Amino acid sequence: MKYQLFAAILKAPRRLVIEEVSKPRCPPGGLLLETQICSICSTDVKMLYYGQRDLVYPRILGHEVTGVVVENRSHDTTFKIGARVQVAPGLSCGECAPCRRGADNHCDHIGIIGFNHDGGFADFLAIPPQSVRSGAVNIIPDGLDFEKAALTEPLACCLNGQELSGVSDGDTVLIFGAGPIGCLHAMLARVMGATQVLIAERLQSRIKMAGPTKADRMIDVSDGADAAIKEVVKEETEGRGVDVILLACPEATVAYPLLELLAPRGRICLFSGLPPENALIRLNANLIHYRDISIVGAYGCTTAQNSAALKLIASDKVEVDWLITKRVSLDQIHEGMEHAAQREGLKAVVTEF
Ligand SMILES: [Zn+2]
Ligand SMILES: [Zn+2]
Repeated sequence: MKYQLFAAILKAPRRLVIEEVSKPRCPPGGLLLETQICSICSTDVKMLYYGQRDLVYPRILGHEVTGVVVENRSHDTTFKIGARVQVAPGLSCGECAPCRRGADNHCDHIGIIGFNHDGGFADFLAIPPQSVRSGAVNIIPDGLDFEKAALTEPLACCLNGQELSGVSDGDTVLIFGAGPIGCLHAMLARVMGATQVLIAERLQSRIKMAGPTKADRMIDVSDGADAAIKEVVKEETEGRGVDVILLACPEATVAYPLLELLAPRGRICLFSGLPPENALIRLNANLIHYRDISIVGAYGCTTAQNSAALKLIASDKVEVDWLITKRVSLDQIHEGMEHAAQREGLKAVVTEF
């Protein structure tokens, strides 16, 4: 048993400090976890440098979290002491209109672990009763390790984006960005039935690392994106255009040239948030009109999508282990954040607390 407990607390933009904390109480109806693996998300990096819409300071960050149950004050006997669990970060009520429609990521009373509730960059994590009630706490299947299970939430967010943009049998999918999210999208698109997966990326290092996605084509857009992408899309689709474009990097915007890459009934998914100064865009409405184009957004994931993503990882339908390119202890979290911010590798995870 450790006598000193620590957490990574974001106090203000750029002020992430490791501080001694007291052990959180297990909330009535909730669970207390001893954190095992918590992975670093590009949203954590964004919060560190710029803040984020749902973030409330001061905050223990970390929403891609796995742990072991050390206390259970709920009536749910599934969660025995010692159970290995993965937690979807959304706290939803289960009763409001969005929850009843299955869109619990838009719950009227939404809370998010690691955003406005304390998260997993700490020795212990208190899981509120809503998480237990809504099915946000998942038992990790035997044989699946904590590291892979910790990548459930980002995969679930990709699933949300692909369900909303209707990725399905026979689709050609073009993904912008070969970061961890772009790579997850590429592997998931196959599971959803896509027959052709193309990835556009400007960093050579990431083009090299993305090999295991088994994308049909990596499009190097290091200099002057438009021409190269247009050429490749034309070639790969016999001039028809792609069915779905997934924007998985904050540089790509949906504006004019992208619409031209789509086949009739094509869909664009705005998966990455954009810096506010780039968020206003101009669109050619006639391209959207004449070609039955749909543009969808995607933010977060539902608890059901989280559970589905965990199953996809457990069954090896989506292989995630190769995405982890850095492992740090909690007191080295700044190195992990840097690794993600510099895009030198893919995913960094905190493995020791
Ligand atoms: Zn995340
Ligand atoms: Zn609700």
